[in-house]
Amino acid sequence: MGESVDAAKHAAEPVTGAGTAADERLMREAVVEAQRAQRRGEVPVGAVVVLDGAVVGRGSNQPIRGMDPTAHAEIVALRDAARTAGNYRLTGAVLYATVEPCLMCAGALVHARIGRLVFGAAEPKAGAVRSVMRVLDHPALNHRVEVAGGVLEPECTALMRTFFAERRAGGN
Ligand SMILES: [Zn+2]
Repeated sequence: MGESVDAAKHAAEPVTGAGTAADERLMREAVVEAQRAQRRGEVPVGAVVVLDGAVVGRGSNQPIRGMDPTAHAEIVALRDAARTAGNYRLTGAVLYATVEPCLMCAGALVHARIGRLVFGAAEPKAGAVRSVMRVLDHPALNHRVEVAGGVLEPECTALMRTFFAERRAGGN
C-alpha cells in the first residue's frame, strides 16, 4: 500500500489522527456553515476559524452567489477571522473545514500562518492536503500546519453526496 510508505515517510510530521471531542464540537459549527451553502445551491462546504478557543471566523462556500471563484468556505472564514482579529496573520489559529481544502485554500492557510487544520471528508478529486497533493508537507515551506482529517467524516461526506445526487436527479 502506498499509504503506509507515505505514512512512514511523514512519520516525523505532527499529524494527528481522529479529532478530540472539542474538534467534533467545532466541526459541527463548520457543518452549520456547509448547510448554509447547501440552502443557497452552492456546493456544501463550511469552515470556521478558532483562535484561543473562540470561533473568530465563519465561512460558507459561495463562489456562484458572489461571482467570485475564490469564495471558498475556507477563504471566506479566513477573511472573517482576520477582520475580527485585526490582523492578517492568524498565528496558531485552527481552521475547521468540512472538506479537505483545495490548492488555493491550502496556500491561504500558509499565508495566514494557521497552526492546525482539521478537516472532515477527504476530497479525492481536488484535495491538496492529503488526497491529490500534499502541499502542506512541501519541504520548501517554512511554515508548518498540523493536519487532522476525518473529523465528523460521515456527516461531511453525506452533505456532499446528497447535494450531488440531488443535482444529478434535477438534470442540471
Ligand atoms: Zn478551496
